[in-house]
Amino acid sequence: MTTAGGIVGEFFDLKRETDAELLAMQCGDFYEFFGEDAEMVADELDLKVSQKSSHGSSYPMAGVPVDDLTPYLTALVERGYRVAVADQYETSDGHAREITRVVTPGTLLETSDADAQYLGAVVSDEGQYGVAFADVTTGQFHVTECTGTDATDQLLTELYRFDPVELLPGPTLRNDDELLSDLRERTSATFTLHTTEAFAPGRARHRVREQFGDETLASVGVADDELGVCAAGAVLSYVEESGAGVLASMTRLQSHGSGEHVELDATTQRNLELTETMQGDRSGSLLDTIDHTVTSAGRRLLAEWLRRPRQSRGELEHRQSAVTALAEAAMARERVQETLEGAYDLERLASRAASGSANARDLRAAAETLALLPELVRLVEDTERLASSALADALDRPDREAARTLANELDEALVEEPPGTISQGGLIRQGYDDDLDEIITRHDEALSWIETLPQREKRTHGITHLSVDRNKTDGYYIQVGNSEVEKVPDSYDRVKSLKNSERFTISELEEREREILRLEEQRHELEGELFAELRERVADAAETVQAVGRALAEVDVFVSLATHAVRNDWTRPELHDDGRLDIESGRHPVVEQTTEFVPNDLRMDDERRFLIVTGPNMSGKSTYMRQAALITLLAQVGSFVPARRAAVGLVDGIYTRVGALDELAQGRSTFMVEMQELSNILHSATEDSLVILDEVGRGTATYDGISIAWAATEYLHNTVRSKTLFATHYHELTTLATHLDRVENVHVAADESGGDVTFLRTVRDGPTDRSYGVHVADLAGVPEPVVDRSQEVLDRLREENAIEAKGGDSEPVQAVFDLNSGQFKERTAGASEPVANGGSPAEEAEQETAGLGEAEARILDSLQGLNVDETPPVDLLQQVQQWQEELDGS
Ligand code: ADP
Ligand code: MG
Repeated sequence: MTTAGGIVGEFFDLKRETDAELLAMQCGDFYEFFGEDAEMVADELDLKVSQKSSHGSSYPMAGVPVDDLTPYLTALVERGYRVAVADQYETSDGHAREITRVVTPGTLLETSDADAQYLGAVVSDEGQYGVAFADVTTGQFHVTECTGTDATDQLLTELYRFDPVELLPGPTLRNDDELLSDLRERTSATFTLHTTEAFAPGRARHRVREQFGDETLASVGVADDELGVCAAGAVLSYVEESGAGVLASMTRLQSHGSGEHVELDATTQRNLELTETMQGDRSGSLLDTIDHTVTSAGRRLLAEWLRRPRQSRGELEHRQSAVTALAEAAMARERVQETLEGAYDLERLASRAASGSANARDLRAAAETLALLPELVRLVEDTERLASSALADALDRPDREAARTLANELDEALVEEPPGTISQGGLIRQGYDDDLDEIITRHDEALSWIETLPQREKRTHGITHLSVDRNKTDGYYIQVGNSEVEKVPDSYDRVKSLKNSERFTISELEEREREILRLEEQRHELEGELFAELRERVADAAETVQAVGRALAEVDVFVSLATHAVRNDWTRPELHDDGRLDIESGRHPVVEQTTEFVPNDLRMDDERRFLIVTGPNMSGKSTYMRQAALITLLAQVGSFVPARRAAVGLVDGIYTRVGALDELAQGRSTFMVEMQELSNILHSATEDSLVILDEVGRGTATYDGISIAWAATEYLHNTVRSKTLFATHYHELTTLATHLDRVENVHVAADESGGDVTFLRTVRDGPTDRSYGVHVADLAGVPEPVVDRSQEVLDRLREENAIEAKGGDSEPVQAVFDLNSGQFKERTAGASEPVANGGSPAEEAEQETAGLGEAEARILDSLQGLNVDETPPVDLLQQVQQWQEELDGS
């Protein structure tokens, strides 16, 4: 026996062995926490703290019963703690304890959450990154590399997409404070420092090869990705060291970034509210709106599809064929969905089987779920419309024979309703194992011998009040009423006297009792072994089990997409390989749910690639553009789309940027961020991308804003040539349409009669005549004098600062209309000087046309020589002030 002091000492010794924040150490029937751990755990989980004295000191102690550890662990880990678990085991001289696993957010198997739970590793090397993500609960494994000038943005996008719960930064990355803090900002993951050797290229490659095989490495195209392989190796090593025991379930290595998926950067995923709204709510997101899946695997897959739309027309038309067939075959669709309702999460199960944590109910559920596959196949084959669709292919992908064999095996082995624990027996059906049957038969015989014993004894000894019973302290006994005690034969041994009766035993009964106990023990042991074998078989078949799970999830998603399409009158989009986006009566998939939506058309093609969208505030510009992006995205998921008719040219990426002001309300964006993201788009978008710019340039003063918007438009039009929708309240920009070939104006119409604005929500060709901010202020109840005055001010500003565009296609000319001189002052857009402020005194206007004065020339010189990046803002301001003074003086 360990002394009390020893236990606390042992706890702290074990604690030193691990870098986990908490240690749960088994002491008999409890897992105990001591010292600070006890206080922390008690705090988090509302446990009682007691005191344990040891060597004259007293230590806080908190414990949970062995059987309850899992929910407590789960709660701690989901709060971001890493918890080491030390189990107690028997040795020849008493018992010993050892850390058997470390449960961390990324290696938690008993998660209470249906979402994917990714563990990630990031390796960096001179601005390039290798990234790996594994979900231990489903065996998903992804590897990718981020290279090129925007590698860091790609990395952040990956993090956003996988949203890991735990992240292992590689050795180099750990010293990069700046990036590290960026990463921390982007994810809520727990950061864990895994041993640096695990990241070493040689060791990592060896491990990855061992896990997935050389061929897989080559076929998914990561064989040469040094950094990706390092990250993958580190993840595998971490999972192994955690003791989760799930490596066997990691069967499928996937790589991306190979041009298969539509590029969706983190900002875009957020702006389009794919899986959560800008406020971080699930409800109101696209996923939440279109999700009619009935299994958690289905929901996970739908989320994955939304985050990773596809580029391949073949694949998308394939998916469309399944959705179309299901949309048309209403009855069959409902039956397929009903069938799926009984499905268990097979992907998760494969991991639990591999880790040895699956119980008999899990395996029973697995058998029943595997058996759904042939049922679905039959349903699909029986419905002509479905039989010829991609649905049949999805169901054909898993090894059906292997799945059936496994399902039968499990079904033959396990009773219909097994208990939730393994140690109590009662799991295995009769007829499955001869030895077990023998034990059970003998057990039953012994029991029935006991059952019939009272009858026999009553007859033999002529006793009427005699019964046989069993309790914990006495075991089996024969009970005889006091009135008949004298009839009891000598062979009866008295066990106990009660008030009205006596208890006896006889040697035959004792013998039977021993036999029963022995048989029960044998039975539990044998059932345990048989069950472990079964679980092993499931773990060995992890690949098949996962493939079936995947197929069922796919069918679930198809049914969900079809259901939503039918209920909301969506249409199957035509897919094209050119630059068109032709939408007739399109709607916004989320807004249409809650609003009487006014449908709108959109027409873009190779000649009409850039639309400037103008219209009053709140008229529907942002909605119109997001709708275009979401229709494109849904089309590239394989879904139907909210429109009467849609023809979508497939894109390689969707990029959106919402101007700072629109986001300021969220207290998030700064102008710097806005510009970084604009820069990212200008770098990353291609001719085949869809770009949505919403009020870009708004986060700064008017002239800056217009200039940036202007230049970005030119660049996107002339150089990037992406399909672009640009909403702007700078109606000055609408003049760009007259000299850039492929730029066209559209506006959201508003009816302005009687001084009120009615939003028609209808998009029409041509520019809006002006911005309606003042009218909105009026509508909002701003006092009349203020409204009137602001209209006056607005009119004046307009006249004074009007910007017009003139000139040819390649070299547009900006001109400032000067109210005082009554003339345009022209500048080519390429000139380095900024657009000067108007409203200058009349004599200055003369100088302007007659050439620069001495002061102006000097100022221009020093302006050109000024390095803005390296001059402190205060000095800049002083400089400006000085120029102003010089101008005033001249
Ligand atoms: P803007 O970007 O022009 O300021 P928004 O796109 O934010 O305007 O839309 C303003 C409001 O109008 C939103 O509440 C939106 O739900 C609603 N809305 C937008 N377009 C439509 C439409 N076509 N039909 C019905 N309501 C719409
Ligand atoms: Mg808007």
